[in-house]
Amino acid sequence: MKRPENFDKIDNEIIKIGIVDCRIDVSKNGFFVFGDNKWDNTILFEMNWDKNQYNVKICVLGEGVAGWYLHQDLPIPKSLMKTSTDFKEFVKSNILDVASKVDLTNIEYYRAGATNLYAETVFYEVLSSDGVTKYKVANLNDGITNEWSCSCPAFVYSKETPRTCKHIKSVKN
Ligand SMILES: [Zn+2]
Repeated sequence: MKRPENFDKIDNEIIKIGIVDCRIDVSKNGFFVFGDNKWDNTILFEMNWDKNQYNVKICVLGEGVAGWYLHQDLPIPKSLMKTSTDFKEFVKSNILDVASKVDLTNIEYYRAGATNLYAETVFYEVLSSDGVTKYKVANLNDGITNEWSCSCPAFVYSKETPRTCKHIKSVKN
């Protein structure tokens, strides 16, 4: 197929995946995807329009096209090249595939592991019973682990498993 005319229009488009804003950067032979401020790797999609195939390469942020191939010679789905909305779906499904296989926050080559796209720590401020001190309660929930912590001394010395305190309990209730 021919290089789609609309291809340049997706340059600098942002696709939000989980908590990561993924930015598309169109280059000569394809495009990069950056996980702005979250990933040490970039993903390079080498598009071979003549052969209707594409490669997915894991590159190191700031080091151009140096990297290793996660996929080679995948067929380009023509139906997803028609509009920029379709194309963004193509990018999104590819990023989800990459993120399930590679830890993009880690720059070591050939290191397997998934990228956590969804973990987000939520902070709460809880007033202590003296009415003056404020403690910080943190909750990390990625759908698999659900961890709570608090900056108060009672949490630090808590003998319960998992550790807890009255501030955490007050947020949960
Ligand atoms: Zn506490």
